[in-house]
Amino acid sequence: MQDTKLAIVIPCFNEALNLPVSLEKLWNILHRMIDDKNISSESFVFLVDDGSADGSWEIIKKAHERSEYKVKAVRFSRNFGNQSAIIAGLENAYKLGADAAITIDADLQQDETKIAEFVKAYDEGYDIVCGIRKNRTDGLFKKTCSNLFYRVINFLGVNIKPNHSEFRLVSRRTLQILSQYKETNLFIRGLFYDLGLKTKDIYFDVKERKFGESKFSFLSLLALAAKGIVSFSARPLRIVFFLGFGISFISVLLAIACIIRLVFHLNYLSGLELFETWETFATGMEILCIGIIGEYIGQILVEVKARPRYITDEELK
Ligand code: UDP
Ligand code: MG
Repeated sequence: MQDTKLAIVIPCFNEALNLPVSLEKLWNILHRMIDDKNISSESFVFLVDDGSADGSWEIIKKAHERSEYKVKAVRFSRNFGNQSAIIAGLENAYKLGADAAITIDADLQQDETKIAEFVKAYDEGYDIVCGIRKNRTDGLFKKTCSNLFYRVINFLGVNIKPNHSEFRLVSRRTLQILSQYKETNLFIRGLFYDLGLKTKDIYFDVKERKFGESKFSFLSLLALAAKGIVSFSARPLRIVFFLGFGISFISVLLAIACIIRLVFHLNYLSGLELFETWETFATGMEILCIGIIGEYIGQILVEVKARPRYITDEELK
């Protein structure tokens, strides 16, 4: 609607090659929507420089100086990670009075032409519009791990659509709710489906990254997955409890078998190899369970310290 102040939020980490092209495209889309009276002329692009060291901030500053670009931005003191950058963008959009905010990656791998469709869904009354990937450009390994993650997290009772991405629109009401979530480690992808607000999914084709490489290594994705699971489900702790119970039960059965063997001198029931195999299995399970519990304790430590999610160095408003 004509009075909808839209913010397009972009997290950037070393995106100097992508930014000029991406900004031009987004600027065109924003202006077309303003001309068509679909959004207010107060709408803007909000960039979060997540500690880039490749000249991204200089490009952002130049874009800010061109008033027609409608660029506002903040720069972090160092790299705080993509989740913190998105949260900072959304928090700033809220403070700047946006009625709706759309997050999209700086490499525009997500289909920016869907932005108008997102806004239309917002006008129809949706609080959240999620961009879901129709296809994936990642390699087989990353794709398999990602599918596994969504299966595991859904099995653990967390309601997240597979192939969900950080391309989504959220209403001001959602931004207000988000501002009440104070946890340091906030897994936003899980949060938005958890709110119970009116949500619409829109499917889009993923494009190849034009310049540079993905900023996510396998290990950083694994850490994000663990963070997502720990933030939204305590079920792994219950699984640990049942595992412990099951292993103890089988150990009792094996002990009874040993006693029977001793009492009745049943040498053919030696079972030594079985015992060894069992011990190795049980030790492995113990270490795994300690690891799972450790992950939760680590998260508690981070939350208790309650350090800021990010530190802002510079602002362009
Ligand atoms: N990003 C960020 N901080 C980081 C890593 C990434 O702000 O520490 C930004 C990055 O610049 C991009 C978005 O997050 O705009 C998604 O990153 P990328 O394209 O590398 O992820 P992929 O598409 O491979 O999932
Ligand atoms: Mg990308």
